[in-house]
Amino acid sequence: MITVEQATEQVLSRIGVLPAERVPLLEALGRVLAEDVVSDIDIAPFDNSAMDGYAVRFADVASAGADSPVTLEVVEHIPAGVAPRVPVGRGQASRIMTGAPMPEGADAVVKVEVTKAGPAGGGTGDTVEILEPVKRGENVRLRGEEVRAGDAVLIAGEVVGSAAIGLAASVGHAELLVRRRPRVAIVSTGDELVDVTETPGPGKIRNSNSHSLAAQVLEAGAEPHVLGVARDNEADTRALLVRALEFDLMITTGGVSMGDFDVVKTVLEEIGELDFWKVAMRPGAPQTFGTIGGTPFFGLPGNPTSGMVGFELFVRPAIRKMAGFASLARPRAVATLTHDVKKKADRRYYLRSRLTRTPEGGYAVAIAGNQSSALLTAMHRGNCLMSLPEGESFVPAGTEVKCIRLDMEEGTA
Ligand code: AMP
Ligand code: MG
Repeated sequence: MITVEQATEQVLSRIGVLPAERVPLLEALGRVLAEDVVSDIDIAPFDNSAMDGYAVRFADVASAGADSPVTLEVVEHIPAGVAPRVPVGRGQASRIMTGAPMPEGADAVVKVEVTKAGPAGGGTGDTVEILEPVKRGENVRLRGEEVRAGDAVLIAGEVVGSAAIGLAASVGHAELLVRRRPRVAIVSTGDELVDVTETPGPGKIRNSNSHSLAAQVLEAGAEPHVLGVARDNEADTRALLVRALEFDLMITTGGVSMGDFDVVKTVLEEIGELDFWKVAMRPGAPQTFGTIGGTPFFGLPGNPTSGMVGFELFVRPAIRKMAGFASLARPRAVATLTHDVKKKADRRYYLRSRLTRTPEGGYAVAIAGNQSSALLTAMHRGNCLMSLPEGESFVPAGTEVKCIRLDMEEGTA
C-alpha cells in the first residue's frame, strides 16, 4: 500500500495540460486563460463625466457657496453617447450626464445635487446656480485612466470570472482562448446495478455512483460522459474500458476489490498499464490508477462514499491540472475535534465531517453522521473531510485536526 501523498504525486506526474480553444465569452467562464488579453483602446476611451451635473471651469466656481451661488450660462446639453460641439467659456457651463464626453474648455463637473436650475429648468440657453466649489478634475474620469491601448487587461493563467468577462468585452474580445474542459468518461460496474428509474428487485441496487460522479466531474469544471454499466465479466468491462481512448480521462466505480467478480484490474492490466491499486486510506483503500493508451484511468471503489472521496483526493486534482489551473489543493482548516475517534493505525482516515466557527473565531469539527462507506448522508451533511493521520489508533476530543474544505474552491483561501 502506498500513502495518499505518494498516490497523488504518481497521478499528477502522469497528467498533462490540455490544449487551448477559442470560445465565445460566456463559454470561457470558470476556465483558465491561455493567452493575455490585450486592449485595443484606452479605457476610459475619452475624458467623461462621472456624475450627472454641469461641466464647468473650476476657477469660475471657486467662490461658490449655498449663500453665495455663482450663476453660469448653460450653453449645451450633453447626454451620454453624444459628442459635445460647444466649448465652455468663462462664465459658462454645459448640462452633462454620467458617461458623456467632457466639452472643450471645461475641467470639472459639479454634481446636480449642489446646483439650482434656472427658471427654464437649467437647459440650453438657461442659467444654473452653482452652490459648491469643485477641484480641478473633480468628477471627471480621464482617458486611459484604467487601461491604455496595448495593455494586457487579463493575463494567461488567470481564471475567467464574471469581471474578467466584462473586462474582455470592454476591450473588444468576443472570444477568449482558454484551456479545453477535460472530457471525462464514467463507467459503473456491477451485476447488481439497476437504473435510477427502476425499483430494485431482489439483490439489486440503484446505480447512484454514475450520477454522483458526473456531478463531481461537472463541479470540477469538466464534461461528464456517462457510458453506462459494465456487468461483472471481462468481455463487458473490456468493451467499455477500451473507449477510454475517446476521452481525456476515464473513471470506473466498483470491481477493484478482492471479490471473485472484481475484473477491472485484470482488464486494465490487459489493455493498459496499472500504476497502483491500493492506497493506505479509509474509506476506500482499493483506489486504482493507470493509463489506457495514454488516457489516465481511475478505478474507484464501488461504495458510494469511497468513490466520492477517491474522486476528491485523486481525480479532481488531475482534472484541474489538465484544465490548466495552478492551484490543485482545496483550502485546509485546522479545527478542534469535539469527540473521540478510534481508528486503525495503519491508514489515513477521511471522516465526512462538519466544520463550524467557534465564538473565539477558530474552528470546531465533528463527524457529520454514520461513517459507513456505503452511506452518502454524512458526505451530504458535511462540508469537509477530517483527515486523521496514520500511526494513530485513538484521537481524543480536543485534538487539533486538519480538515479539507469541500465548501471552498482551490486557490480561494
Ligand atoms: P464493489 O467495489 O464492486 O465490490 O462494490 C462495493 C459496494 O458498492 C457494493 O455494495 C456495491 O453494490 C456498491 N456499488 C457498486 N457500484 C455502485 C454504484 N454504481 N452505485 C451504487 N452502489 C454501488
Ligand atoms: Mg462490484
